[in-house]
Amino acid sequence: MTVDMFRALLAETDLFVYERSVDESEGTVAALVRRGLDKCLAVAGERADAFSGTEEKGLRLCPLSNENAAALMGLFPYTKPASHKGHRFTMGFGDRLGLASPGHIRALGDHDIYPVLAQQSIRELNLTHRTFQDVISAAAFNVFQEGYKKGYGADGDHLKTKAEIQYALSAGCTMVTLDCSEQINQKAVTFPQAEIDALYAALPEAVRAHYEDVYLDKDLPIIGSLSAEELRRIVIVFHKGIDHAIECYRYIDEIKTVPVDFELSIDETLTITTPAEHFVVGNELHAAGITPISVAPHFSGAFEKGIEYAGNLNDFARDFVVHQQIADHFGYKLSLHSGSDKFAVFSTVGRVTKGHIHVKTAGTSWLEAMRVVSEVNPDLYRRAHKFALEHRPEAEKYYHVSTDVNEIPNIDLENDAYLPEYMNLPAARQTVHITYGLLLEQPWFKDAFFRTMAEHEEDYYAALVRHLGKHVRILTAETDI
Ligand code: ZN
Repeated sequence: MTVDMFRALLAETDLFVYERSVDESEGTVAALVRRGLDKCLAVAGERADAFSGTEEKGLRLCPLSNENAAALMGLFPYTKPASHKGHRFTMGFGDRLGLASPGHIRALGDHDIYPVLAQQSIRELNLTHRTFQDVISAAAFNVFQEGYKKGYGADGDHLKTKAEIQYALSAGCTMVTLDCSEQINQKAVTFPQAEIDALYAALPEAVRAHYEDVYLDKDLPIIGSLSAEELRRIVIVFHKGIDHAIECYRYIDEIKTVPVDFELSIDETLTITTPAEHFVVGNELHAAGITPISVAPHFSGAFEKGIEYAGNLNDFARDFVVHQQIADHFGYKLSLHSGSDKFAVFSTVGRVTKGHIHVKTAGTSWLEAMRVVSEVNPDLYRRAHKFALEHRPEAEKYYHVSTDVNEIPNIDLENDAYLPEYMNLPAARQTVHITYGLLLEQPWFKDAFFRTMAEHEEDYYAALVRHLGKHVRILTAETDI
């Protein structure tokens, strides 16, 4: 089968062809096609039998199932996620809908950025009733649709246990973001010193001896010296988290079948990560022979979902420089979580890291989808908006947000032309942001929403190019990325 023969067969059908997808390998040609609003793969040639589907005019038309995604990855390896080791600037684009990757790919423009197109936490999977397999398959089909051949990653985000790691890796994730928040003794940050001392005294002799040998009466790189009091507090807060990180890293090493990028996240804590804490964590991993690909400290200021950074930008910049020195010292990158819409810090982040950074975004792509809905299907937006307001208290169990719903104009008093403005108001953004799981569970919403998005997919891609393109532009402005 040649591409020309394949195109001739397609011309005999009423299928719409995504032109960038048409590709040939091992005597087999495939393309992403659509009939009405239903997408599928069209395949013909020697390896068509690897795909399951129905025959039509010499073509096999194959549903976008996980099985057919696996066959596609076998035939065209660029559709399969891969490690991003060696790439300086990497960016996570969580896509809770499985629709956004073409927009994400286009938002990269000519920048040398390796995208992590599949990126979901267990919480996001549960709220959207998807599996890691579903998320990766959606990314693979989208990559194929776009004819994007530069590679992408798949991040099992905020995994907490070996079982979750096993689940993510067996589904094909190429990155693990380990969340140690359950092992970190977050409350101990504010314990009185006497309580810290008592807890410390109760630790095994070997643990105390190790930390005291390495950190006391030493001139440490970047952070200088640590007092005995400081060290005891850091050990009480972090030692179990450090042990968990080392254990999980070894576990990944043992079970992985392809290269896996290991990120350590210590950002989901109650307090900001001090340079001394970051140094001890980085140094303990280093001593265990572990160089993560990236570490996500809890930076100063508020990184709330879907809205601009809030906090003291001078404090942020001062701390960020030191965190970058520590990351450089140990040979990993910093990772910026909740990076959606944090335009106020992007210049600093790009400049200080010289584009050697991992930035995660997620919810903002869902908000851009809702912006499209507000423009093209105002009635659906109105109903969803009211539902979101009504159910925000439930969603606040999963997400920390601080905006005030009283700042949201009453939608019954606004005309349709105003509706897209809601996606510019922080309080409305957060309300719609955190209720995605509840909304997507409502049949009246889900069906109409996906139909609207299918009818307006190019509008969605354009919205993502505009919005995530702005992220990319500011982050990379003073780099050669
Ligand atoms: Zn995080």
